[in-house]
Amino acid sequence: MSQAPNFTEVDPGLRVLMGPGPSDVSPKVLRAMAAPCIGHLDPYFLTKMDETQTMLRYLFETEHALTMPISGTGSAGMETCLVNLIEPGDKVMVCVNGVFGARMADIVERLGGELIRLDFPWGRAVAPETVLKKAKKAGPDLICVVHAETSTGAVSSLSDLSQAAGEVGALFVVDCVTSLGGMPVGIDANKVDAAYSGTQKCLSCPPGLSPVTLSSRALDKLNRRKQKVVSWYLDLTMLGSYWGAERKYHHTAPINMIFALHQALRDICTEGLETRFERHRLHHKALVAAMEGMGLSMVVPENERLPMLNTVYIPQGADDLGVRKALLNQYGIEIGGGLGDLAGKVWRVGLMGSSANRRNLTLFITALKSILEQQGVKIKPGALGAMNNIYDQ
Ligand SMILES: *Cc1c(COP(=O)(O)O)cnc(C)c1O
Repeated sequence: MSQAPNFTEVDPGLRVLMGPGPSDVSPKVLRAMAAPCIGHLDPYFLTKMDETQTMLRYLFETEHALTMPISGTGSAGMETCLVNLIEPGDKVMVCVNGVFGARMADIVERLGGELIRLDFPWGRAVAPETVLKKAKKAGPDLICVVHAETSTGAVSSLSDLSQAAGEVGALFVVDCVTSLGGMPVGIDANKVDAAYSGTQKCLSCPPGLSPVTLSSRALDKLNRRKQKVVSWYLDLTMLGSYWGAERKYHHTAPINMIFALHQALRDICTEGLETRFERHRLHHKALVAAMEGMGLSMVVPENERLPMLNTVYIPQGADDLGVRKALLNQYGIEIGGGLGDLAGKVWRVGLMGSSANRRNLTLFITALKSILEQQGVKIKPGALGAMNNIYDQ
């Protein structure tokens, strides 16, 4: 036998997570994750599952019975909604204004759906008038949209898009990965038929679970399927029997991940959704004030900006990778770079969940100023003053 490998213990040290996710995870959530592992049919665990579902309904603002976390990251939730609701030949309209809309379109094609892809400029909201016009012509079975495009920082209007879906009788499928827990999603008010999220964005839990919720109309489509759902693991007819009253074994739930989510949701319930949304808006305003105070400009027009993900143009003369490396190595701060067309042109600054606080923001702005000055980039001196004006007004 060869010699056993001998590596150092996992000990990454602390970071300040201000990128597109994961966000900072509180010690309480990490403690919940380190609770003893018990059986997936243990009555104690079953109680925690029920409580998790109740708290998820509060968060999604829904009464949908089928509301549960999928074992997998946000993309698993995306695939769950699409694989259960699409049969070959179904017409599926996907609105694409960034990376995640494009990912949905890819999945639709893999499932044999008839893809109707609508492209919109990156950094802008999806235009509901265009969606309605094209939908009236094409008559789609599903309309899919990303509520909060993490790749660009733009938000699209669920109420307007929902109206378009309603007018043509299509199921309305929404990606809430980044919006859930950071801004209102109103699943019932907006008549959303299927939505999914992820734990590592505004829920401030480690990655690994994807909360989903489906309306009874969506379940009707699922139950009318002519063919079995092509994914065994993500088949909601079977998953629903484990998370529903029957408690029928499907796969072993990731027990400790669900403990962590339970604690993250308790923290959200304690804070209250309204307070939490207001907190995200406040720190977003402070960040924009600081960036503009420095002379940097935001990518997304003001009324289409997300509070939890802020894209800003990299100033002339700054070295994209050099700045991000210095932030991480000198201050432990992580921010995101641009994707696709925006690569090398923008930075993406996350203010998600626990990460959205004045201490993080003050550290980040101070660090960024100092690094840019070291690189000889000309910036205006007003950043901290403008930011503090927002906080202290
Ligand atoms: C992060 C993200 C996803 C994908 O989630 P993973 O957890 O990385 O699989 C999907 N959609 C949006 C809008 C996201 O921000």
